[in-house]
Amino acid sequence: MSSDYYEILGVTRDATPEQIKKAYRQLAMKLHPDVATEADAGDRFKKVAEAYEVLQDPKKRDLYDRGGDPLGGGMGGFGGGGGFGGQAGGFDFTNLVDAMFGQQTTRGPRSRVRRGQDALVRLSLELAEAAFGTTKPLQVDTAVLCPRCSGSGATEGSEPETCRTCHGQGDVTHVQRSFIGDIRTTQPCPTCRGYGTVIPNPCVECSGDGRIRSSRTINVKIPAGVSTGNRIHLAAHGEVGPGGGPAGDLYVELAVAQHEVFRREGDDLEVVVKIPMTAAALGTEVSVATLEADLEDADEADRSVQVTVPAGTQSGTRVALEGKGVPRLRSNGRGQMGVTLLVQTPSRLDEEQRELVRQLAELRGETGPEGTVQKHGRGVFGRLRDAFAGQ
Ligand SMILES: [Zn+2]
Ligand SMILES: [Zn+2]
Repeated sequence: MSSDYYEILGVTRDATPEQIKKAYRQLAMKLHPDVATEADAGDRFKKVAEAYEVLQDPKKRDLYDRGGDPLGGGMGGFGGGGGFGGQAGGFDFTNLVDAMFGQQTTRGPRSRVRRGQDALVRLSLELAEAAFGTTKPLQVDTAVLCPRCSGSGATEGSEPETCRTCHGQGDVTHVQRSFIGDIRTTQPCPTCRGYGTVIPNPCVECSGDGRIRSSRTINVKIPAGVSTGNRIHLAAHGEVGPGGGPAGDLYVELAVAQHEVFRREGDDLEVVVKIPMTAAALGTEVSVATLEADLEDADEADRSVQVTVPAGTQSGTRVALEGKGVPRLRSNGRGQMGVTLLVQTPSRLDEEQRELVRQLAELRGETGPEGTVQKHGRGVFGRLRDAFAGQ
């Protein structure tokens, strides 16, 4: 776009003030936010206004004709006369134009009917519920359609009426005279808050909102394998919108409680099982409860698993049971159930037991008379300590 003020306004260099004013008004109307559709209309309008600002003022026009920059000194600082049409210095022209163009999106009455907000609720689960999936009742306190007015917000037999302030437009326009012509600013109507209609007799149940607070219970299906932080998305289960608008969505965020026996590691379940020292030495088989034992309807066969403890098992040994962990949420199969064996050293021996252990130690060459003398630098306690450390 040209930066020549005469070209911008489309007038000759000897145009009269009337011709300049006429050209400006025509361009201003064309580029006005009410009618302009071009994306650059705002920028062009600023240019046009700038050109008019200079050419409508004889002093500024004279300076411009002689090659000067009449706007270079800033508003109000030029030629001693300063200002335009009585406007105070410091008038922010750019903001003014932006404000005018920014109003475009708020035209026309807005609907009373709007989509409801999404809601987030938390739901606690036991580990078995999270692992195997379940259906849980969940109480939700939310907004539902007003049963009395079915969302209209008006008392039975009455209707919303056209707003008298804005005549149904939803917004009101103020016209302000200024040096660039009439400046129109449009705001939502204060009487009807932009709806274009008023409800003269609001519904007593919902006070005109079209919805009421209500508590209801929904059944939430929990898929197997969820964990803390997972969210379940229930479309249109959020609150109903104003004026009976469509409901928002409901998000259920899950929190899985700690289990008193199992520790969950991703899809694996970890459990610690204590076995006597003698059993660890001789070998045995132990029955370990699975997470299925928490389920009321699980098969008896699934409620426990037999774990073989080989002779000579060291404390801290982990036995991995494939497919006994948590079902995977996003694929088939299940994680492991890890059984860590903790070998228990007997702490209270009677005289006979003490004698047997002492004999065992002697046979193994692991002790002196008091059970503390060490051979090869390691007594029975040292060996047990090593065993606990998993060596
Ligand atoms: Zn109502
Ligand atoms: Zn109104």
